[in-house]
Amino acid sequence: NKVILLNARPVGKPVSSDFKFIEEAMPVANEGQVLLKTKYVSVDPYLRGRMNDSESYIPPFELNKPMASGVVAEVVESKLPGFEKGDFVTGVLDWKEYQAHNGQGLMKVDPNAADLSAYLGILGMTGLTAYCGLMEIGKPKAGETIVVSGAAGAVGSVVGQIGKILGCRVVGIAGTDEKVEMLKSKFHFDEAINYKTTTDLKAAVKAACPTGVDVYFDNVGAAISDAVLANINRYARIPVCGAISLYNATTPDLGPRIQPTMVIKSALMQGFIVSAFAAKFPEAIAQMSTWLKEGKLSYAETVVEGFDQIPQAFMDLFEGKNEGKMIVKV
Ligand code: NDP
Repeated sequence: NKVILLNARPVGKPVSSDFKFIEEAMPVANEGQVLLKTKYVSVDPYLRGRMNDSESYIPPFELNKPMASGVVAEVVESKLPGFEKGDFVTGVLDWKEYQAHNGQGLMKVDPNAADLSAYLGILGMTGLTAYCGLMEIGKPKAGETIVVSGAAGAVGSVVGQIGKILGCRVVGIAGTDEKVEMLKSKFHFDEAINYKTTTDLKAAVKAACPTGVDVYFDNVGAAISDAVLANINRYARIPVCGAISLYNATTPDLGPRIQPTMVIKSALMQGFIVSAFAAKFPEAIAQMSTWLKEGKLSYAETVVEGFDQIPQAFMDLFEGKNEGKMIVKV
């Protein structure tokens, strides 16, 4: 049974030697447990923070212990009432091919209602992050302009589509021309900007947002956010969802001071962790499932095959190799 451990805490960008593959004896399900076979593994930018030995909203991974993330698994044996062989479940699970589990925190998922991988993306953590962060903090109104950074990723692509459903003008910022094209053609963004080839991002955002920016959904931080914040309107709302451009930084980032803008524009900036909105999850899942069925919402996935590919898929997030949700199919 293959297991992936945290071998070393990364300095800067994570590298292959930060992970270690080991073989352990095949686990067995004891009384009160299920035996799970890993089917789909979610790799997520936030795991980078858990690889550091620092205090956060979630404890760090321990050295020489398994890495873990959102997983869809199949119950291959059950000695736990409520679970049967053949059920599919999702939860935060170890990076192991098979594992025994007491069921706590596991949620059954229906393979007939949606693709199993969707429970790690649009109907899972990243979809909920997009919905809750946008609705609860961004509070967009029809006719307003939303800018989203990290727009072609799992969270960003859903934020933009919800913005369109709500009648907003939506502008995305992403790192390749292919992503820019996908945002406009597949996800119906009004405009998209390639931040890697645009020399004056502030001017590009201004041109793409003729009436200014009312909501800035920030997945990235630093220079990209500076360019957007220079274009915000009075009473702008800024859900701060992530700062992926800074997760591998080894020195503190110093950017333009934004306080005068925040005052002059009476803007609201609020960071959040999706779990804070747990009470909204049933509504969010119901609404997004309806939009999916109606064809108003769609999603992209980059699916990498093979358990051994989990660390590489994770590292590739920081190279922008994914369109939509990055998933490993085991
Ligand atoms: P994505 O699917 O968006 O994947 C990461 C993307 O980030 C890459 O594809 C890449 O796209 C972009 N990126 C990587 N490095 C940089 C960089 N240096 N500068 C700019 N862009 C970069 O991941 P998610 O949708 O899962 O997550 C998006 C953000 O949301 C992350 O910051 C994450 O931490 C955060 N998040 C927060 C949650 C919360 O509860 N607050 C929950 C879930 C996610 P490109 O080619 O465009 O550069």
